[in-house]
Amino acid sequence: MAAITSEALFPGFCCECGRLFKMPQNLPGGLGSVAADLPFNVLMGRCLCPACVEQFRAVSAPLCSHCGQPFVSPQGPDHVCGQCSEHPFRFQSARAVGLYEGGLRSVIHQLKYHGRDQLAAPLGRLLWQTLIHYWEPCRFDRVVPIPLHPRRLRERGFNQAHLLIRQWPAIAAAAGLPMPSDWIDNRLLKRHKETLPQTGLKKVQRETNMHHAFCLEPNRCIRNERILLVDDVMTTGTTADSCALTLLCAGAAEVRVLTLARAVL
Ligand SMILES: [Zn+2]
Ligand SMILES: [Zn+2]
Repeated sequence: MAAITSEALFPGFCCECGRLFKMPQNLPGGLGSVAADLPFNVLMGRCLCPACVEQFRAVSAPLCSHCGQPFVSPQGPDHVCGQCSEHPFRFQSARAVGLYEGGLRSVIHQLKYHGRDQLAAPLGRLLWQTLIHYWEPCRFDRVVPIPLHPRRLRERGFNQAHLLIRQWPAIAAAAGLPMPSDWIDNRLLKRHKETLPQTGLKKVQRETNMHHAFCLEPNRCIRNERILLVDDVMTTGTTADSCALTLLCAGAAEVRVLTLARAVL
């Protein structure tokens, strides 16, 4: 007799619309082989119903070659957007998996605010796939999750950006790309200023809000290192920019940014 999985017995509630749904039976056990690129609907098929999972919109070309903001028109090559031409960010480039809306926003909320940390593995896998789409992982000397303020970290109990990339060394090793043990560096950056939510602030207010918000752990040397900053969501980019400035002032050669989601501005 074929084994009856718990998933077949217990349908799931969709994170986005709240409806009960029967999970697809063809989802791979665990996360499957690292060689295969698993699409969003497969990775998220256990927590979003078939209708909601199909609403996902990937960040795809054409996009701003600097900040990664996708252009409205689907035609033409990547180029630098108007905002980056006038006020370029200090990081070299930023890329994201998908737009911050619908099912992707809901699963990020479930991870961050409802403690569903089992979502970190499939979301981290998505993030890894986007990393290798744009860059060679070994080009980065260090991968740094954007830190929370210590008070926020105490309240939440975890840094969601760190949760997302915790499994990357295992994925990298399985893909034949062993990384140094300190590749994921959760202690390099500190957030020593409590900041207001960036949403709703004007550009000058955002910059004042984030000014000197981050510092380096004492006695750390990152001279000439190439660093990847990781976060769950990029909204205006000011937070990542402030981190990048701190790292570049400390001697980093290059700072790039990868997020799960990109706010629709
Ligand atoms: Zn749904
Ligand atoms: Zn741009």
